[in-house]
Amino acid sequence: MTSPDAGPLGLLGGTFDPIHLGHLRLAEEARDALGLARVRFVPAGEPPHRTTPRCAAGHRLEMVRRAVAGNPAFEVDDGEVRARGKSYTVLTLERVRAEIGPDRPLVLLLGADAFQGLPGWHRWTELFDLAHIAVANRPGTEPHGRRWPGVLDPVLERACQARIRTDAASLAGTAAGCVVPFDMTPLAISASLIRDLVACQHSARYLIPDSVLDYIGSNDLYR
Ligand code: ATP
Repeated sequence: MTSPDAGPLGLLGGTFDPIHLGHLRLAEEARDALGLARVRFVPAGEPPHRTTPRCAAGHRLEMVRRAVAGNPAFEVDDGEVRARGKSYTVLTLERVRAEIGPDRPLVLLLGADAFQGLPGWHRWTELFDLAHIAVANRPGTEPHGRRWPGVLDPVLERACQARIRTDAASLAGTAAGCVVPFDMTPLAISASLIRDLVACQHSARYLIPDSVLDYIGSNDLYR
């Protein structure tokens, strides 16, 4: 059996404002479907592609810590929160690649919406040299989630065409460079939905872990 420190490492970046069950199922189903040894959650300190998060980075990091506690295959990376400046994924991948060495497979996990925005990311074409990219379907982004790459932005489609693989085994055999679509249980949960529910004093229970719900309540977040 492969040691958890040698098998493919998944990386799930996000604003996690707050983390919800869509994120956790994405990580869990990717781990299962793609044979990942571990999944590392990387909360963004200063997300470059969106407005300022509602919650401070320290709160978002703490909510991620609470959400993944108890799953031995999940871990948290606070590098983007501690770093100054914008949280560019390419910088995180360079850092993690330097940490794990050139041979261990590294898999960047993205929802279909995030994947479609890839051509807007800083130094995006270099991401393929550093990691594989696994793309999960996400409700609201159909038909792209299931039918891509036929309907992708042509620039992204050109960059991905020769990289697409449909078997998880190709991830384990190389360190980086493949693009792998995978199906996850469709969950129409978003952090915006959670923020809206909390703001309107409606229940967000069963959409986020209880430990995160308790943290939101005790710190009076999103009111
Ligand atoms: P917001 O509603 O504030 O835009 P979000 O729910 O999209 O937030 P992010 O932290 O921006 O959460 O997402 C991090 C990553 O998780 C992205 O790659 C995103 O596509 C993916 N993701 C988030 N929610 C889901 C979901 N329900 N199903 C599949 N992927 C998801």
